Amino acid sequence: MPRLTPVMQQHAAAKSAHPHSVIFFRLGDFYEMFGDDAVLVSRELDLTLTSRNKGKPDEVPMAGVPHHAAHGYIARLLKKGHEVAVCEQMADPSTVKGIVPREVVRVITPGTWSDTPDLDEGENQWLCALHSKEGRLGIALFDLTTAELMAAELDDLSAALSELGRARPREILVGWEDSGIDEAENAEQKTQELVAEVKALFPEPAIHADSLISEEDIQQELLKLDSPHAGPLALSAAARVMRFARRCYRGDAPPVWRLSLWNPSGVLAIDRTAQAHLELVHSLSGEKGSSLLSVIDRSQSPPGARLMRRRLLAPLLNEAEINERLDQVAFFMEEQGVRHDIRVALGGLGDLERLAVRASMRELTPRDLGAIRRSLGAAQDVLTRLEASPEFSSQSWGELPEDCSALREKLALALVERPPAQLKEGAVFRQGFDGELDDSGELKEKGGEKITEFEAELRGTTGIPNLRVKYNRVFGWFVEVGKANLGKVPEHFRRKQTIANGERYTIDELDELAETLLHAEDRFRARELELLKDLSEEAQSWGARVHLLCAFLAQLDVAAALAELAVEADYCRPKVHRGLELKLVESRHPVVESQAARGRFVPNDLELEAKKNHLWLISGPNMAGKSTFLRQVALTVILAQMGSFVPAREAEIGLVDRVLSRVGASDNLAAGESTFMVEMRETSDILRTATSRSLVILDEVGRGTSTYDGLAIAWAVAEHLDQAIRCRALFATHYHELVELGESSESAENHSVSAKEHDGQVVFLHRVKPGGASRSYGVQVAQLAGLPESVLARARALLLSFEEKAAVRSAASKAKQPQLDLFHAPQDSRLSEVASTLKALDIDRLSGIEALQLLQVLKS
Ligand code: ADP
Ligand code: MG
Repeated sequence: MPRLTPVMQQHAAAKSAHPHSVIFFRLGDFYEMFGDDAVLVSRELDLTLTSRNKGKPDEVPMAGVPHHAAHGYIARLLKKGHEVAVCEQMADPSTVKGIVPREVVRVITPGTWSDTPDLDEGENQWLCALHSKEGRLGIALFDLTTAELMAAELDDLSAALSELGRARPREILVGWEDSGIDEAENAEQKTQELVAEVKALFPEPAIHADSLISEEDIQQELLKLDSPHAGPLALSAAARVMRFARRCYRGDAPPVWRLSLWNPSGVLAIDRTAQAHLELVHSLSGEKGSSLLSVIDRSQSPPGARLMRRRLLAPLLNEAEINERLDQVAFFMEEQGVRHDIRVALGGLGDLERLAVRASMRELTPRDLGAIRRSLGAAQDVLTRLEASPEFSSQSWGELPEDCSALREKLALALVERPPAQLKEGAVFRQGFDGELDDSGELKEKGGEKITEFEAELRGTTGIPNLRVKYNRVFGWFVEVGKANLGKVPEHFRRKQTIANGERYTIDELDELAETLLHAEDRFRARELELLKDLSEEAQSWGARVHLLCAFLAQLDVAAALAELAVEADYCRPKVHRGLELKLVESRHPVVESQAARGRFVPNDLELEAKKNHLWLISGPNMAGKSTFLRQVALTVILAQMGSFVPAREAEIGLVDRVLSRVGASDNLAAGESTFMVEMRETSDILRTATSRSLVILDEVGRGTSTYDGLAIAWAVAEHLDQAIRCRALFATHYHELVELGESSESAENHSVSAKEHDGQVVFLHRVKPGGASRSYGVQVAQLAGLPESVLARARALLLSFEEKAAVRSAASKAKQPQLDLFHAPQDSRLSEVASTLKALDIDRLSGIEALQLLQVLKS
């Protein structure tokens, strides 16, 4: 091995301390990667691979990125599953003799990167840990950007998976309980199995095994967080996230305000497939634009937006709590003036929550401090406006939080109107805030004047009119006298330099003045830095209080936003109770009514009751509006239980414990696996987890396979829901054969979404009405879609013959097994098919070529 240069020794030390990370090694204005890291980044990031110490024995591959652009490269590496250790210069190279010290200051992973400029304001960024013991699990979620830490205990992995589906963490740590030395190996293996299991369902976040955690670790990590009611599994999981985060920050624990516990069984369960199918936070195509969240979120501040999202994904089960939230919305609906004013004020809140955390993690910039001052001003405006409103009953809101005005006042006294982004970019502090700063600032500013004064004074005492006090970089300040006046130069002037037309001198008084000027600049900078640090620390000490303030404001923001929505989009307050009814009058789909069918949405009623008619079978042609109706019912329940008003004229909602949904294969083309397999797996999950309090939405189940298979499965599933689970369910189907089930069951009812035939064309009315649909109108839809007339005519004829055969078959013997033998029909029936094809033909719509093509089909 060739001896390493001192810099490369630093690199080797960083790498050996962080063998699994790509080392971003700071050299001047670049981050350089060396050795294997260089090869890796050149491949992953398309960087040019060069080498350091070329041609020498210690030549090593190298690749680099400019330091100011590093974050984009880091983001790409994280996305590809790597982690990055940032090795910084720990001193200003210009002030250090010899080699600059370097240290790894941060390990960056997807769940701990809290200072990326790409943070999504509307979403928490969770780092998650699972801690497993004998089948049960603890789960913890930690958002380093808001300092929230939450934990819960779960009965099984499937409960954990649904929590993961809700939180969508960026990174998941998986660990096993340490239960004795001889089991250590076994535990390792079990952990790996668990990692694989989680990974199979959540391919996106980074998932890795976490090492064992001991009782002492737990004590140490959670030292400052008193949490008397947390169970041991929740505590272990919480300690895991904290330990991981602390390690990424070189042992400096990121701030955390408290450990809050949540009760997973207190939340309306929306399984992952339902969450996706109902397009709660993303549309199926992956965009955010047409999700329910994007339509309802009228929040004014980032903390409000995050709370809105969390509430939408975790609606409540408790009647009293739901009504409390609904009361808050109702308050803002009535108090329009208050709503308007506080929404305006909230618009100026900014991301105070994250700023407060940033204050605790690193020093704030002048601009950050200015932003905190502005945010606190907005917060105060909100609180003042609320207190001034006589109707504001503090009961349903809990106690008003501390308004943190002392911090705001301090910042207001200290900072100028618009503090610059960085020190050195302009004035940061107000005149009169700090005497020392003002003095050195004055000296600095007035330096020029002082020199001019001094020059005038010298001219006077020496009687040399063209004497000049000047500055250059080599000599600093000096006095310059022209040749003509050299005779008048006093004794105490010390000659420094002779120039073409005169002499340059220095004198003690000038040296002193120069010294003060220079120091003024230095002193000014140092004092500024000191004051900035003090203020940063001050802001930091308010962190927990600012957090509480933000939590309160977020609640207000959500309630006022939902009120705004309810007014604008004409929503009603749902009656929520513990019964098992579900009644909607003139219900609408919140997204479709605001987008695709804006202004012409047809409202529909729904009435499900426990024993009477808890299953609605909904038939009707394609494009009639079956899927839309199903989804709007589920969305309405979710909205109501999150504490929102709902898109209907009246709504009565018996609390639902789970929303389960399955959308037919062609409505949701899952990649990879056979769509039918996916469909059946999801359906079976639904049948296994639904309770009598659940709401099940099944849309075209059975579509992924051949007609008779599909019909049989759909039938059996519907029957099971109706008879065995006996929960509220909507079942949309294009098999009108299922109408029979609706007729024979006491507790199921047929409904159909109507379409009208008009001159051989279908007109969709989008109206759900009692009774089954008689026809599927598929051929008419095909016509609307522009299929050639020859094909349409043939299809009409085939349809007629299928229907006739079906009628004959069912009339002849219902006991006999149905035979699907349509294409091997006897000779005479083929002839009659030709006849009926011709009869069904619309010659006016037939082109010449189509006529020839049809003829060929008929002949063959
Ligand atoms: P289906 O599931 O019966 O095939 P969809 O629910 O997918 O039908 O609806 C088809 C289209 O009809 C939707 O894209 C929507 O724009 C429109 N639509 C559905 N329901 C309504 C309604 N109640 N009012 C107005 N337009 C509707
Ligand atoms: Mg559909």
